Parts: sequence; structure tokens; C-alpha cells
Amino acid sequence: MDINTLTIDGARALVESREVSARALAEAHYAEIESRDETIGSYLTLTKERALAQAERIDCLAEKGDPLPPLAGVPVGIKDVLMTRGERTTAGSRFLEKFVAPYDATSVEKLEAAGAVCLGKLNCDEFAMGSSNENSAFYPVRNPRDTTRVPGGSSGGSAAAVAAGFAVATLGSDTGGSIRQPAAFCGVVGLLPTYGRVSRYGLIAFASSLDHVGPVTRTVKDAATLLEVIAGRDPMDSTSADVPVEKYSAACGRDVKGLRIGIPKEYFGEGLDPEIRQAVEQCIDGLRNAGCEIVSVSLPHTEYAIPVYYIVATAEASANLARFDGVRYTTRSPKAKTLADMYRLSRDEGFGAEVKRRILLGTYALSAGYYDAYYRKAQQVRTLLTRDFQNVFTTVDAVVTPVSPTVAFKLGEKANDPVSMYLSDIYTVTANLAGVPGISLPCGNNHEGLPIGIQILGKHFDESTVIQLAHAMEQQL
Ligand code: GLN
Repeated sequence: MDINTLTIDGARALVESREVSARALAEAHYAEIESRDETIGSYLTLTKERALAQAERIDCLAEKGDPLPPLAGVPVGIKDVLMTRGERTTAGSRFLEKFVAPYDATSVEKLEAAGAVCLGKLNCDEFAMGSSNENSAFYPVRNPRDTTRVPGGSSGGSAAAVAAGFAVATLGSDTGGSIRQPAAFCGVVGLLPTYGRVSRYGLIAFASSLDHVGPVTRTVKDAATLLEVIAGRDPMDSTSADVPVEKYSAACGRDVKGLRIGIPKEYFGEGLDPEIRQAVEQCIDGLRNAGCEIVSVSLPHTEYAIPVYYIVATAEASANLARFDGVRYTTRSPKAKTLADMYRLSRDEGFGAEVKRRILLGTYALSAGYYDAYYRKAQQVRTLLTRDFQNVFTTVDAVVTPVSPTVAFKLGEKANDPVSMYLSDIYTVTANLAGVPGISLPCGNNHEGLPIGIQILGKHFDESTVIQLAHAMEQQL
């Protein structure tokens, strides 16, 4: 058994045939984590008791020859923004360092009900704010492909763990690219479901109208399988949609001949690394050879996506993070003598620099006198961005773009330049603003051997076509 390349089907087959027990599989992963995660930093908390208890339940079923659920014995990791009952859940923040979640996120509950074994909680940027994982209050994550480089963010731990052999699959969250960009930087697959497709119940909110929960995996089929498990209407999340969940894994292997693919010219402009452009174009040629019709399209409001995202996301964050006040959930400043001090000092000591920057930006954008100029305007432009996608999707089935303008950068390279960090989200934030689904998958390496990602975006609730195309691309590579 090679832990580094194990897929969901592979892991499940081992457990089902009783070649390897679920317990042994979990223990083998812990052994890898204990020997190598010190240099990567992907986990914040290991949940061994919980994992081994679940593994034993699965082994009992397997011994009796009972039918096994779809993720039986599959070792997974959970981004630490998702609540896990009875386990520490920090959101990468000092503020929640000691917070123990009182309930499970719906996505976590569904994974475990499907037989998955949750190994632990994965490192991330504080409250999922960042693109490099350097904003974790605890320690940065390093890219397993080159440990001098970042794994991307904010689901850096989720992507690094899959790339390093510390979990077969993980859950991440994506508000502006946080599943897709780290997947691209670490050479794995990241899936952004349609807004509403997967419940956000138990996801610590960053920007509620942009937040999505989704899988990070080694293969497209694995991402499809995980999505099947976690998708669906949840009465605990009023924004979760009552749209039938499809058998996404069945889209893998479906012929792509005749599909129309749009190539938006705005995603291939200035600032795109030429090696990435070349790799993405090569992949597009592959689709053409497979019988897809490739057409040039325009998403004309793309240039406004970054400013719109950083107004809407920070405005929502400033409201969502008001609940962290030193009274509930969080660590309270021991220096506080008055009520006002308690709020001020607790928030000052608890939040890191990037989170404070965003709360300030968001509060400003929502304040009287500026609301119309910034927040309302941003919402109006968001509508235009959404219409861009709706228009394009009347003529094509999906669009294909790069994931990020660069490959994984060095730790510290952008840490003191927030604007350049924000600009690197240029190709990913649009999908969140429009609420459409997307996937990021590896499409080659650059001259230094660093992974390059390609992105496919689809129509609302049409994850199947995205997966179908991604699977075809994966087979060609
Ligand atoms: N990098 C973006 C940000 O910093 C996206 C983060 C995310 O998707 N959670 O906001």
C-alpha cells in the first residue's frame, strides 16, 4: 500500500477486502504525520480517539461482511474552520485556541456517517483570510513539493495534507479561492461546489454570501465521490438549496465530445506567468482533440472582481466577527478591568494583523456616508459579474481558465504586501461572487517542477459537467 497515492476507492477496497483494517490504515497515516508533519505543519490537532473509535466501528462491519458505506475507513482531514463536536476548533486563530466545538458541522457529520475516519483538524489562515497560510496564528504550512514555498491558502493544510500523504482526502472552505488555489499550488484537486450545494452549518463564517465547503483530493473521481456525500439540502442552513444531488462520480468517463468550452480572454491577460499560460493552452488543445468546441468568450466585468470581492468579503467579515468579543467562545484578556476594556483588549490580543485589517476595511465600507459609495456599489457590480457568467453560459457549457497567475511563491515573499497578495486571487474570486461551481486540477509542472493548476467553471448546480471535463483532462495528462 502506497499511502501517498491511495484514492478513496483504493482505501475502501483495502478495508472491504480486509487486506488492511481501517484501524491499521488510520495508524499508518498517523505514523506518517508524526514522522513528517513537523516540517509541513498541515495539522493543528489530531483527533486520534475519535478516529480510532470510528475505524473500529468500520472494522466490525467489515468483519461481519455487512455492506460498507461509501467512505468506509477512508482517512480524511478537516479544515479547522469546520466544527467537530468535542474537539478543539480554532479557525487558525489565537482567539479560539481553547475553543471546543459543541456540535458537528453538517459536512463533517455526513462524512462520518458515510464511514470516513477523521484524523484531525487542518491548519489554515486565520478565519480563512489569506492566500498563503502564513496568516495562521500557530504556524505556517509549507508546500510538500518545495518546503521553501507556501502551499497557498487559506485551505493550505487541507491541500498540503493530501499532497504529503497525511490524508486520502480533506475538506476545505472557499470564499475567494481557498480550495482551488492551494490545490493548484500543491498539485492536487480542489472542488468548489455551487453556492448552496453543500451546507455551511458548522462552518465558522468568514463572508456568508461567498463561503463554500468543498473537497480536496488526489483525483477528480475522489472529489466527485466526496461531493456526493456532503451535498444536499440541510434544514440547518437556510441558504442550502433544495436541488437534487446527482451521482457526480458517474460523470467521470463520460464522453466530452460536442461540449462547448469558453475561453474568457480576461483571464489570459497581463500578469499571467507564461509557463502557466502554455500549460493551460496545451490542456485546452487536448479538449479540442477530444471533440470539444473551443470558443473565445468575454466576461467583461472581470477587472472589477478583486475590488468588489475585497469590499463584500470584508464587510461581511466585519459583521460575522463581531461575535468574538471575549464573552463567548473566545479567550478573554486577563488585563481587562472594565466591560469596554474587555471587548477592546480581548479583540486586540485575540485577532491577528490580517483579520484586524479586514475588520477595519469592512467596517469602513459599511459605515454611514461610505455605504453607498463602497458597499452598495460593490453589490451592484457583483450583479454585473454574475450576469457576465449567465450570458456566457447561454452559449457554452463551461469555461476554462488558469487558477492563479503564478505558481507557489516563497514563504515571506508577499507577506508584507497585502495588495499583491489580494491581486493573486484574480482568477478565483469571480466564481464566489457569481456562486458558480468550479474545480482546480493539476495540468503540469513548470521548469522548476512546481505544479500548475487549471480551472473549469460551470453553470449553477451543474457540477456534473465540470467533473466530466476535469476527468477527461486528468486522463489526458
Ligand atoms: N485569498 C482570499 C482571501 O484572502 C480567499 C480566502 C478564502 O477563500 N477563504 O480572502
